[in-house]
Amino acid sequence: MSPPKYLTGDKAGIEEFLSRFDVFLFDCDGVLWSGDHLYPKVAETIGMLRSKGKQLVFVTNNSTKSRADYKKKFDKMGIETNEEEVFGSSYSAAVYIARILKLPAPKNKVFVLGESGIEQELNAEGVRYICGTDPAFRRDIEPEDFTNIANGSALDPEVGIVLSGLDFHLNYLKMATAFQYLQRGAVFLATNTDSTLPTAHSLFPGAGSAGAGLVKAIGREPLALGKPSQAMMDAIEGKFHFDRSRTCMVGDRLNTDIQFGIEGKLGGTLAVLTGVSKKEEFLAEGAPTVPMAYMDTLGDLVG
Ligand code: PLP
Ligand code: CA
Repeated sequence: MSPPKYLTGDKAGIEEFLSRFDVFLFDCDGVLWSGDHLYPKVAETIGMLRSKGKQLVFVTNNSTKSRADYKKKFDKMGIETNEEEVFGSSYSAAVYIARILKLPAPKNKVFVLGESGIEQELNAEGVRYICGTDPAFRRDIEPEDFTNIANGSALDPEVGIVLSGLDFHLNYLKMATAFQYLQRGAVFLATNTDSTLPTAHSLFPGAGSAGAGLVKAIGREPLALGKPSQAMMDAIEGKFHFDRSRTCMVGDRLNTDIQFGIEGKLGGTLAVLTGVSKKEEFLAEGAPTVPMAYMDTLGDLVG
């Protein structure tokens, strides 16, 4: 494997790199911004790529927001985009359920562990669901719940899928209910399995860590619909019909973004050092995931 090319400050190298691609898949958090802090020259960089006629898709594992939420965030950040260019893990899961899995009614309802981003995308695809932000599930488990979950009287017989995303109100009642559906044969899906959630302050447990208890209990892994899962790549390709050899994945995290691009056999991967992964991780001898090129920050593309 050839070592990654360091592009910061290398004008000719950047020109040559950009000329190889027509499509750029962008990770969001850690590449464009961190939380509510936009990195320098990001809007300028996006504008430059658009002026060169590049197609841009913003691919995020953040399931707590919908594409409409992201559009608002881009507006707030002063970056020109439209909802159709955003591909989040909640949308990816909704598309998978509605257009690929297509379980027959009536047993095609989803039990959701997650926030409103998932609910909005399921609604948009016409997928029925329960739980999510339902306040009835935001309480302690009571002794009678054990009986009613076990005997099925607290269960919806139409649930055929459990979808696990990051749920900031995760509790034992939701876990126990989800586990019961899984034991009764529900399809197990996850929006994403990120181990950690980066915030401006520190790392926090991510969707994969929050959902790990359920995985341990049932003893099988969910099908993940976020990066690096190729189910997400296939869904993006299904929508945008791009030539993989002329597509580059830009990201900050080696085991999600860069792995996603490599496994998807994209023409290129570009790591930026503004997020989770450090250059020592991919410059080390025998590193498992090595990008094609790297830069200190995305804004270095415009110098
Ligand atoms: N999941 C959640 C809940 C998040 O808030 C974030 C980042 O904000 C992520 C995942 C990672 O998102 P991305 O794939 O854009 O780095
Ligand atoms: Ca990221």
